[in-house]
Amino acid sequence: MDRRAESLTAPERRFACTQCGACCNRAPELELGEAGALADMFVLRLMLRIYSLPRSLGDYVSDLPRELASAEFYERKRLLGQFAAASWPAKVQRGSQVVEYSQYLSLSVLPLDLGTGSCPALEGDSCSIYARRPLSCRSVPLHYSRPAAAAVRDLDAFTSTPGFRCDTGPHAPLVIASDIVDPAMLAARTEAVAQAQADARWKAAIVKAMKAGEHGLPTPREVETNAAMGVLTASMLGAWRVAEATRLIKPAEAERLLAAQCLLIERETQRDGLSANALATMREMHREYSAALAEQPTAVRGD
Ligand code: SF4
Ligand code: SF4
Repeated sequence: MDRRAESLTAPERRFACTQCGACCNRAPELELGEAGALADMFVLRLMLRIYSLPRSLGDYVSDLPRELASAEFYERKRLLGQFAAASWPAKVQRGSQVVEYSQYLSLSVLPLDLGTGSCPALEGDSCSIYARRPLSCRSVPLHYSRPAAAAVRDLDAFTSTPGFRCDTGPHAPLVIASDIVDPAMLAARTEAVAQAQADARWKAAIVKAMKAGEHGLPTPREVETNAAMGVLTASMLGAWRVAEATRLIKPAEAERLLAAQCLLIERETQRDGLSANALATMREMHREYSAALAEQPTAVRGD
């Protein structure tokens, strides 16, 4: 076994956050159901992404040693099944070979990157919403959607990022001992799966609306076409309209969300150091949300 493989299978890692703030360099990704409670903090965008995984372990490519790669494959399959909104088969040409894949459509929320180089919730080096920070922040440095089998590799990659001042010394708490053992990280992982289950009906309704071309949502084909170019984001209006139409939220809640986003955008457009792209997107969102609010029979903004 080479030295890297040996290091990856070494069973223990220690970690403590020194609250240097370096990894809070942009707003975090949220599960769909988390976004409503943070509509006063983040300019929310629906994120649509495709993940691909070979159907068979024999076609799976990993940089992990063989037994870990196998565990990683099966765990990825399970996690994608738990978090994805939909999946379908696909065939991919790999050299002279055609490989069968499963494609998974992921629906989550990615707050708009304001281009300032830091999360809008970061004040100095501290998180101003620490008690209600999202699950992805609570599971740092081991994101809950990543296989535990790859935890050592992922933790090493995270803590060796230039500028990150995480404590991995002998006095830091043990977070990996063959498996993840840190109670807070384990709790965030369990809660994230529960959140994905709670969001399942909403995600299924969004997929149905996407297939029908309703509520201004992109079609699954558009997401697939865009996959090679990166992440596709869209306004949250379509997702909230679907939630309203399927009675997952009441009209008053949809109004509250739109009004909260309008107020936030009015505040955030005054921020220094915004990128031109962020400013243009926020102005467009404000126009769209204001028009939607004006159409509501009982607008809550009072204007
Ligand atoms: S929400 Fe808080 S912990 Fe999460 S990235 Fe922002 S500042 Fe950091
Ligand atoms: S880079 Fe490490 S020490 Fe700094 S805030 Fe992030 S987790 Fe904490």
